[in-house]
Amino acid sequence: MTVKGPRASRPLMFERNRAVLLRPSRWISLLRKLVNAWHVLFLCLAVVLLLIALFRVDVEEGGFLHFILWAWSRGLFVLAVLSWPGWFAFKLGVVSCPCCGESFAEKAGFSFLVEPRCVNCGYDPSTISRRGDF
Ligand SMILES: [Zn+2]
Repeated sequence: MTVKGPRASRPLMFERNRAVLLRPSRWISLLRKLVNAWHVLFLCLAVVLLLIALFRVDVEEGGFLHFILWAWSRGLFVLAVLSWPGWFAFKLGVVSCPCCGESFAEKAGFSFLVEPRCVNCGYDPSTISRRGDF
């Protein structure tokens, strides 16, 4: 296994105590789901709006479809308040892996979705386990 980042020259120390890992893992898992859900919901809304424009669906004001689109877009706006700073926290390396202490998400490259496992050590916060551990 190759180790990237500033800890590459130092010996690896993995935190394996589940009691220590539990709380930060829950937060990382929750924040990751929120960030990914926002991007998926935004993409779905964009596709629905494109289809409505493409097929010239008549969206009457005050109708059910109008209300759904209104609620969807306002919900996304409210979710963005939490998920955008969360996305930047992952991408800027503010969110560190509770197992290895390095940045949890890939900083290089531009992906909207946050990976389920730590890019450095493969730790999965949703299962509180690391690849290769028993
Ligand atoms: Zn890690």
